[in-house]
Amino acid sequence: MRNVGTGTWPYRRARLSSDKTAITFRGRATTYRELDERVTRLAHALRSLGVGSGDRVALLSTNHPAYLEALFASGLLNAIFVPLNARLTAPEVEYAMRDSGAAVLIHSEALGEIARSAAGAATRVVLDGADPEAVGYEALIAAADSSRIDEPVSHDDPCFIMYTSGTTGRPKGVVLTHGNIVFSVMNAVIDLDLDSHETALVCAPLFHTAALDFVALPTLLKGGNVVIEEGFEPGRILQVLERERITYTFGVPTMFDALSAHPAWKAADLSAIRRVVVAAAPVPPRTLRTYAERGIKICQGYGLTETGPGALILTPDDVERKLGTAGVPHFFTDVRIVDADGREVAPGERGEIQICGPNVMRGYWNRLDATADAFTDERWLRSGDIGVADADGFVAIVDRLKDLIISGGENIYPAEVEAAILEMPGVTGCAVFGVPHEKWGEVGCAAVVLDNGYELDHNQLVEFLTPRLAKYKIPRSLVVIDEIPRNATGKIRKDRLRSQFA
Ligand code: AMP
Repeated sequence: MRNVGTGTWPYRRARLSSDKTAITFRGRATTYRELDERVTRLAHALRSLGVGSGDRVALLSTNHPAYLEALFASGLLNAIFVPLNARLTAPEVEYAMRDSGAAVLIHSEALGEIARSAAGAATRVVLDGADPEAVGYEALIAAADSSRIDEPVSHDDPCFIMYTSGTTGRPKGVVLTHGNIVFSVMNAVIDLDLDSHETALVCAPLFHTAALDFVALPTLLKGGNVVIEEGFEPGRILQVLERERITYTFGVPTMFDALSAHPAWKAADLSAIRRVVVAAAPVPPRTLRTYAERGIKICQGYGLTETGPGALILTPDDVERKLGTAGVPHFFTDVRIVDADGREVAPGERGEIQICGPNVMRGYWNRLDATADAFTDERWLRSGDIGVADADGFVAIVDRLKDLIISGGENIYPAEVEAAILEMPGVTGCAVFGVPHEKWGEVGCAAVVLDNGYELDHNQLVEFLTPRLAKYKIPRSLVVIDEIPRNATGKIRKDRLRSQFA
């Protein structure tokens, strides 16, 4: 076979473990042999719709095995897979469809209205239900040829285009090659010690690199079982963790907080879990403590869509020793921390995290300028995040460059202030952001969400923070809001808070 790409994995796995369960979805198990057959048929079907080498295939749905099937099938044809965020509005999907130039849009029936208005000239394929103007996914697979496809694919060929969450500006398509995926997946397998007995739960969205490259693909590479949940309902997830004897999962901090706050948390049997990875946002210390008390190792990870996504990882062995840090660079990846002049800083000093390695994207789709801006001259990716390494090289993520508040020449790192405020009784959510100030240039403002029955005024906030933080870090104003605004991948929309409260 001249194809060394990701698309051949079901075929290669079916040779080794054909009768093992590859995917469990809605209570139904699909073996590696069945997965291989479905993927091959889907590739033939896509080809019959005109998809060839270099063409783009988009998918818009909540979590569904079609994410994996379409990814592999595209890979067999050397086409490029474009997973789209299921929470986007019609104009946002239309933008991604136009920007990527996708020839096919596979979508769930529930998102039919958005898909219809955003598909443009693309052929629509509907996953479930009936749509007279679209082609049916299952019918397409059933009618297709199942002979082996032999399209040459190299490690340098693009595998995905993933649109980044875009907290500022228009989303950009991150191009990850088959080689990028191989190294990302190997990073996860090596550093998390994944084996062929994993039963991994995918409850984070499959349109993000973390659920794909960190959970689903490494598990399938090793011959484990990927349990896919369509959404995140804490009570149901606790049942799945127990019933399926889940050994590994990934999520963002708010997901893990929701699980431990659920009434069923205490009684749930979570003894099969070997480790969980939490990333994408700062992990509050109390979350780490809550899970540690249950004997569950939370391995904090850090990375970006651009790094496919892993850059740093706190491996299970180091969780107790280095709790709260995001660990060390992944096996195949290098990370450095530099000052504003690009010089590496000493341990204990803050600087921008920069990343280099075979998992790092080639660039943004059709965006030469943005790609050039993203890298230094020596091809280190500028993360825009601020970190500090300890003497052993373990890196703590202290903030994002963009969120930095500069007040009278002093740097305020909102994450640090937020962590302190979150320790207040009754505070369930917090975001600190900069607002313009005549004298100081900028000052901090805190937006908090309170539990029922709690009240908080600015004086109480100052009183609580005074012993904990330097005076200049204490927010000058406070607003109590109902909910912290977040984008589709859970990042706080500080731009929205700024414009609302400036
Ligand atoms: P995305 O491309 O959507 O995965 O977002 C990447 C961004 O998420 C990074 O640039 C960081 O700002 C943030 N991030 C990821 N992991 C962590 C972490 N462990 N702690 C704090 N921020 C994180």
